[in-house]
Amino acid sequence: MPEIELDIERCNGCGLCEDFCPVNVFEMIEVGGRLLPSVVRAEDCWACDTCVGQCPTGALRVVETFEYAPEPGLGGRWDGQKERAAPLSGEQQALYRSWSEKLMQVLRLRWSPVAVSLIPAGAPLPVVPMPREKLRYCQSLMAARRGKSLLMPAKCHACPDGTTILGLTEIPAKLASGELYIRFGKLDSIEAARQMIAERPRLEPRSIQATLVTPLAQATLPPDVIAVIAQPEQMMWLCMAASYYTGKRFEFKVSGYNAQCVETTLFPYTSGKINISLGCYGCRASSDVGDDLMFMGIPASEMPGLIEGLVALGKKAIPDSRDKIYLSPLT
Ligand code: SF4
Ligand code: SF4
Repeated sequence: MPEIELDIERCNGCGLCEDFCPVNVFEMIEVGGRLLPSVVRAEDCWACDTCVGQCPTGALRVVETFEYAPEPGLGGRWDGQKERAAPLSGEQQALYRSWSEKLMQVLRLRWSPVAVSLIPAGAPLPVVPMPREKLRYCQSLMAARRGKSLLMPAKCHACPDGTTILGLTEIPAKLASGELYIRFGKLDSIEAARQMIAERPRLEPRSIQATLVTPLAQATLPPDVIAVIAQPEQMMWLCMAASYYTGKRFEFKVSGYNAQCVETTLFPYTSGKINISLGCYGCRASSDVGDDLMFMGIPASEMPGLIEGLVALGKKAIPDSRDKIYLSPLT
């Protein structure tokens, strides 16, 4: 059982640890005229570190019981499980490299597309470094587009929305009820918060043991979803590539809430359809993503047809459009 250490000199009694613990380990109690968190269900703690990540004063520490082996310069490895995922075959590696090259060349992407895998509970883990600092899921995507590969069990995630949505943890009661969205000024009323929560998918708690993000060309597991971070013009070509053989139009689910976890990852993962996101408050506030960029999540099953369509568009339609062949002298 993990040990929870509280530095009462640092604690300001805000209660965020109680609010965010997904299994209600804490209750706030009055001690000598101060409110302090008391550990009342220590046996339920599974060292997800959500409370540590949310504590604004650094007053909490959760000492884990599984082995966490630091690797200088990289962060660490998770040694709680010894079996490792088999490496990809040469054929698979070549396929993902070729998808990446075609996306980058035809669209002229500045950053790499990102391979996202949601690793089910109990599945062997690949040998990929864990981040030294806790990261939000959206921050890990931004790091992967610049070349980092990151394996993140719940303890490495800094955003409780992301961990509950992606099936890494249970949902804290006040996140489920919508109360915390009101507390942070994200929505006008509890009814609006409940509606927003009801419309977003969420995976079964603890059905996923870790998220894995890598540059697509360096995928270490078959990706579930490929995330592309690009400009509207590049997204337009991706949409046209995906409908090149069918002419179909798309219905995207976009809100401004939970952009990377829900809109770029989970909608494509659960529906098998591509989805677009305009980004959200959290990912724009916590990363360097440019204001001119938006996001697309593509299920891996859609990639072969999309890549074929994109290559076909790249022969004439894309260069013609970029050459502005219809530009009127009047404009
Ligand atoms: S580590 Fe996770 S389960 Fe344990 S007390 Fe903190 S939030 Fe709760
Ligand atoms: S979140 Fe940190 S500061 Fe706030 S009550 Fe818990 S331990 Fe204290």
